[in-house]
Amino acid sequence: MKTYDIVVVGAGPAGLSVAIEAGKNNLSCLLIDKGSLVNTIRKYPTYSVFFSTSELLELGGVPFPAVSKQPTRQEALRYYTKLVEYFKLEHSLYNTVEKIEKVDKHFMIKTTKGMFEATQVVVAIGYYDKYNKLNVPGEDLPNVSHYYIEPYPYVGRKVVVVGGSNSAGEAALDLYRNGAEVTMVHRGAELYYKMKYWVRPDLENRIKEGSIKAYFNSTVLEILPEKMRIETPDGQKEIDAQHVLALTGYHPDVSFLSKTGVLFDPETYVPQYNAETLESNIAGLYLAGTVLTGKNTSKIFIENSRHHGKLIVADILKKRNA
Ligand SMILES: Cc1cc2nc3c(=O)[nH]c(=O)nc-3n(C[C@H](O)[C@H](O)[C@H](O)COP(=O)(O)OP(=O)(O)OC[C@H]3O[C@@H](n4cnc5c(N)ncnc54)[C@H](O)[C@@H]3O)c2cc1C
Repeated sequence: MKTYDIVVVGAGPAGLSVAIEAGKNNLSCLLIDKGSLVNTIRKYPTYSVFFSTSELLELGGVPFPAVSKQPTRQEALRYYTKLVEYFKLEHSLYNTVEKIEKVDKHFMIKTTKGMFEATQVVVAIGYYDKYNKLNVPGEDLPNVSHYYIEPYPYVGRKVVVVGGSNSAGEAALDLYRNGAEVTMVHRGAELYYKMKYWVRPDLENRIKEGSIKAYFNSTVLEILPEKMRIETPDGQKEIDAQHVLALTGYHPDVSFLSKTGVLFDPETYVPQYNAETLESNIAGLYLAGTVLTGKNTSKIFIENSRHHGKLIVADILKKRNA
């Protein structure tokens, strides 16, 4: 079995930043992802536009050309997948890492497609696969989804969007403009204060004029096949809900960290790591990208984690040459 210098779990932007930097420094590196390359960006709403300008999403010093200042999901998919081809990054896709075990000074990485061995491992698993549950009866009904893709399944339908952040706000507007009847249910008193500057006023005005109905300071009690029971400041109500989009955020897969032996704060889910090297409490096991953010997923994103590859590879080389 080949022993890689680095195995990276997760082929998102953070994982790619590690693999590119490893290649530039003649370290052998394998990217393993349970889905496609940049699997998370692939699962964004189809017509998403990034809030970051394209130069702030660049990796490996390669310019990111985009038609407008802020690139689209499609442009980002093309850019990141082309980088993999350009830097000839070795990868194993649709392969889930199930277990990472340290045996002497090596790591054994058990995946659904077999075993891999490496002297260093980087865990860059993001957070997008684990949605925050409402934990109410009916949440598993087929008319409920925790991801928004596009408006067309909902045209002419009564849709309840739960949440008040960017994803919920953008989905509500997109649904309304494409002919769905939209109601928002948000536990906060107002929309998320950091909502994109071009989304918030638009949404506030649609709510004010009544085009989109919104219940603030309100929580979901139960989801039924075509209805939803909610608790509002005016008491309990039953509202129409042919479809429910529960867009209430995401969190890192702490069970994965736990079984790997990475320590993390049980309240915030922030793992233990050295801020200068990104090495975890396990020597030789590093963390990169948004898995470091814990439950507060607005703290770390591509813009401010795309240098993680450089930090990690610099530390690996430093230790190797010591
Ligand atoms: C709609 C939307 C718009 C956004 N816009 C911006 C923006 O404008 N600017 C910005 O900086 N950020 C933006 N973000 C955030 C950005 O997408 C994330 O910060 C970024 O994807 C995180 O990169 P990552 O590599 O850390 O994790 P991810 O991109 O989530 O990659 C993690 C990878 O790990 C894989 N994985 C997970 N578990 C396993 C396992 N057990 N085995 C194998 N593989 C595994 C996943 O399949 C995934 O491919 C946006 C997010 C969304 C949802």
